[in-house]
Amino acid sequence: MSRQVQGQVRERAPAPSQVNAYEMFQAQVDLVGGRLGLPSDLVELLKRPERVLVVSIPVRMDDGGIRVFEGYRVQHSSARGPCKGGIRYHPQVTVDEVKALAGWMTWKCAVVGIPFGGGKGGIVCDPSSLSPGELERLTRRYTAMILPLIGPQRDIPAPDVNTGAREMNWLMDTASALRGEPMYAVVTGKDVALGGAQGRREATGRGVAIITQLVLERLGGEVKGATVAVQGFGNVGSVAALLLHQAGARVVGVSDVSGAFYRREGLDIPELVRYVERSPHRLLRGYSAPGVEGIPQEELLTLDVDVLIPAALEGQITGKNADQIRARVVVEGANGPTTPEADVILEERGVTVVPDILANAGGVVVSYFEWVQNLQSFYWEEGETNARLARVMRRAFQEVWDYAQGEKASLRAAALMLGVERVVQAIRLRGIFP
Ligand code: GLU
Repeated sequence: MSRQVQGQVRERAPAPSQVNAYEMFQAQVDLVGGRLGLPSDLVELLKRPERVLVVSIPVRMDDGGIRVFEGYRVQHSSARGPCKGGIRYHPQVTVDEVKALAGWMTWKCAVVGIPFGGGKGGIVCDPSSLSPGELERLTRRYTAMILPLIGPQRDIPAPDVNTGAREMNWLMDTASALRGEPMYAVVTGKDVALGGAQGRREATGRGVAIITQLVLERLGGEVKGATVAVQGFGNVGSVAALLLHQAGARVVGVSDVSGAFYRREGLDIPELVRYVERSPHRLLRGYSAPGVEGIPQEELLTLDVDVLIPAALEGQITGKNADQIRARVVVEGANGPTTPEADVILEERGVTVVPDILANAGGVVVSYFEWVQNLQSFYWEEGETNARLARVMRRAFQEVWDYAQGEKASLRAAALMLGVERVVQAIRLRGIFP
């Protein structure tokens, strides 16, 4: 059945080079809606964001001139709670991408059972070409411009691609200054000194590592001795690689925008982590060590490994390279790394794919813990956060796994169905206003 469902995706899917994330999101909702037997008007509602805000952000540049950046904040659904989702800084950000990412946040929060809807933000910019002062002015002005939409009970931003604690600190400070009161709970992913949760920075990667361990066990294997390749060595990929390395996995390949590295006996991940921490843009560029080969970035995805963790951007595993993926298991650290066309090919080839909305949910789960702590002004120790995170991830994995077995569906189809079902239940119980 799921193959049939996915097969329809292939027919509708555009060529990989033209994949539009929002079209991909809408095609998924159509399929899941059909499979759950939802009425078409409800499917239509689920496909659209509640609100889209486009802002033109003027920034005084260091050379004295003004540059205008385009930014977005999208709220997909508030049916299950305040909207929740990160803000990304990237030259290729589009409003359609942000709409898709906001929608995926809605299903993600529902799958792991935290009381949030979905939102996302983005600014079209290349942060590596901006000075710290320019980035600060950009972040603060963007915050001021989306302020009518955000708030602890409305919509709570967080880090995403190319943003982190520094930007979240600025966002919190700007919102607090403009509202005239401390507003810690307006954003998550802040530094611990400003109300950030202990363990939030590592949470997405930690969740990916937990899920990798669970899926390997379910397939009759174990992490110890498993070979792993990780695409992306940022906040998600580097932490997942480190934790899996510590758990006894052999991480043989890692890559980022600047390069890819391979060592058959396993890379020294702690050394690589220290290397990127010291490098100017936190990149792998220039790394060398005995026995380590530099390889073309695209080869990272097709390495002969047990587990492939795409933890960079969307649209990496496509109709063009899915045939060459040799991993048994793909654990999606990034959002939307596998196109629908690739999904069909992987499924036909018997590759188990743990979907993004489950695999990378650790970040938003600990964001939820941060928000709760901010609202209560009562702070937990890191051990408590990590133990609770593990519990939430284990329960969600179990629920998705059982659903997939029961419905004879792929893990992606099962996670989407479970998430959509929970959102639909909330919409039905609320009713449509007025
Ligand atoms: N940006 C992360 C995600 O895609 C985290 C979102 C959050 O913590 O709100 O899940």
